Amino acid sequence: MALKTGEEYLKSLRELGLCAMVHGRLTEDLPGHPLVAPSTRAVAATYDLAQSPEAKDLLTAESSLTGDAINRFTHLHQSAEDLVKKIQMQRLCGNVTGCCFQRCVGMDAANAVFSVTYECDAGHGTRYHGRFREYWAMIQKHDLVVDGAMTDPKGDRSKRPKDQADPDLYLRVVERRPGGIVVRGAKLHQTGMLNSHEVLVMPTVAMRPGEEDWAVCFAVPTNAPGIRHFYGRQVSDTRKLEPGRLDVGNPEFGGQEVMTVFEDVFVPEERVFLCGETDQSGKLVERFAGYHRQSYGGCKVGVGDVLIGASALIARLNGTDQASHIKDKLVEMIHLNETMFACGIACSALGHPTAAGNYEINLLLANVCKLNVTRFPYELARLATDIAGGLLGTMPPAADLSDPSAGPLLRKYLAAAPVAEVEARMKVLRLIENLVAGAGAVAYLIESMHGAGPPAAQRIMIGRQGDLEGKMDLAKRLLGI
Ligand code: SF4
Ligand code: FE
Repeated sequence: MALKTGEEYLKSLRELGLCAMVHGRLTEDLPGHPLVAPSTRAVAATYDLAQSPEAKDLLTAESSLTGDAINRFTHLHQSAEDLVKKIQMQRLCGNVTGCCFQRCVGMDAANAVFSVTYECDAGHGTRYHGRFREYWAMIQKHDLVVDGAMTDPKGDRSKRPKDQADPDLYLRVVERRPGGIVVRGAKLHQTGMLNSHEVLVMPTVAMRPGEEDWAVCFAVPTNAPGIRHFYGRQVSDTRKLEPGRLDVGNPEFGGQEVMTVFEDVFVPEERVFLCGETDQSGKLVERFAGYHRQSYGGCKVGVGDVLIGASALIARLNGTDQASHIKDKLVEMIHLNETMFACGIACSALGHPTAAGNYEINLLLANVCKLNVTRFPYELARLATDIAGGLLGTMPPAADLSDPSAGPLLRKYLAAAPVAEVEARMKVLRLIENLVAGAGAVAYLIESMHGAGPPAAQRIMIGRQGDLEGKMDLAKRLLGI
């Protein structure tokens, strides 16, 4: 079955039977847990959209490995048009869920590993690429969710992996056995790990000679023996445990971040895609980061659309929508949001084929895209906060609305324009709160800053790719010097 429905995905996840530490307790039945379920539903939306006639063109593709129809989240991009469709798909998913839908990291990792394994084999005579093709064809066939895992804890940032007091602070190979390897370490900030069937692990930085044990790329099921998951806290997350959904802000969907520990996990040989080839690790990091920096030009824009819509709506409900400064702020929000989208589209449209045959984005423009994403959502959030008004931070809880004596007072004193829509006004304010200061802000703001690397990482890449020498030549030629 190459295309699962959302329901079939949920069933497969339940069968996987992952468990994790959630708020201090080892917890099973994660898809049924009220804290986790919204994030699972967000991933399920990527399956349901692939079934919908209107979204099918964006959400599905023809597999380059098998020729079958597959979900685009498992696609190896075959053209610049594919890269553009990826961005459009992510914007659509952001529109539908209003949160991080978690499924992009595996897609971005796969596209990077696909081309790097090919080049590694060509340079080193290794046999990783064939293995990866086989592995990924299996992922496509079963329409699985893969968590792409890159970020190590990194310990003392001033020290290299091998110089850390504890060498496990960078995930590494601790044993080589016939038929496979044993790995130990941890990966932080794992978006959607508990909603994933598989995890594809990559090195976190460019390794140097002498750091062969840390130059490792492999895949294992998320329930492999030795793996332990720790569910991350998000602002106001326990609101999801309260009766009623109004105060959650986003009533249906949410994101998920996890810390995953690998305690001597065995990886069979056929799932090892890099092991000791230090010269390939930097390229893998750079390529994955490039694809993921492109991704943000789609997903954050999709969520931004929701925030702009909510801001316009609250202005209407407050009766401020005709004020010229409000109109101008909304225009500014649209301008910023579409600028990020334009960068996502541009780095995709100028994509190029790799030696392995899949398409890679324009790296310079992907880094420009992400650098804008480290700023613009913050400005969008500031403008949304401005438009919403102070009630955003002071509103009584939804529970008061249903109290016989408090409810009528809330309805009387929180009435605006039109008078009848107090509950709608509270809902819109909670949605804005969710995105600018609540659980949704983890993905919309913190992840915009740090996901796929912080701004300093993009600046390094822009400095490297910006061709300053070439630009100086232009000036020199013009001046005859
Ligand atoms: Fe996808 Fe965006 Fe979430 Fe990353 S932050 S997984 S790109 S939705
Ligand atoms: Fe991310």
